[in-house]
Amino acid sequence: MKVNDVITALDAVFPLNTQDEWDNSGLIVGHSDGELTGVLFTVDITLERVQEAISKGCNMIVAHHPILFRGLKRLNGTTNEQQTIELAIRHNIALCAFHTPADKSSLGLSNALGRLIGLADMRTFIPSKTSQDVGYGVVGTLSAPMQLQSFMAMLSQKLSCKCIRYNQYSGSIQQVAICTGSGSEFIADALHQKVDAYITADVKYHQFQQPDGRMLIADVGHYESEEMSKKLFLDVITERFAEKNPNFALCMSDTCGNVIKYYTE
Ligand SMILES: [Zn+2]
Repeated sequence: MKVNDVITALDAVFPLNTQDEWDNSGLIVGHSDGELTGVLFTVDITLERVQEAISKGCNMIVAHHPILFRGLKRLNGTTNEQQTIELAIRHNIALCAFHTPADKSSLGLSNALGRLIGLADMRTFIPSKTSQDVGYGVVGTLSAPMQLQSFMAMLSQKLSCKCIRYNQYSGSIQQVAICTGSGSEFIADALHQKVDAYITADVKYHQFQQPDGRMLIADVGHYESEEMSKKLFLDVITERFAEKNPNFALCMSDTCGNVIKYYTE
């Protein structure tokens, strides 16, 4: 099994040609014809994750976030990013990312979060110009209306959130929009589509004022909303290679890679 077999399997579900112009999804470091010993699935590629891959005998990392977005002009070990890439190259570890393709696929991250909280009849929240099935987020319906407190408790439990930021809202919740990661730019769209709640992350103070009581915004945290990408990618590969009895290891990173810590009294 080669690096490219893993990329091809993921590309079938999260097509790389759907990635945004600014994105850098795909194989970033390494050779596509490299023979696999194991694959580590993670949200971010950091020095610690490359060390984890080495210790677990994995020579490929599949991440949600690309390690590089812009050109790298120097490789002299002075930044964490450069050290990470150097370590990966020294140990022959391929680095790849499925970022906006996993955000925009109808089987992607927002769909996975929707399934996790029990949304039915899911459709694309922000369809792309070319297809109704490709685009950011999902909109779906809960089987029964929920009140704020129980909705929050459910989110907190299902996503293992230490903190959810939200605005004043007193209505019941049944129609829900989701955009995992930074989706605050779509608050106006969620209002326009008249959903009761919008689950996303990276919402700014004044953006919480936008709904003015008409909709709940639940900022569950960027990492928390995307941590399931590890399992989503692992499941695609497991299913794809199940009958082929793969002779390489498949591991989910078992460390919380959230760069954000929470101080609570
Ligand atoms: Zn993200």
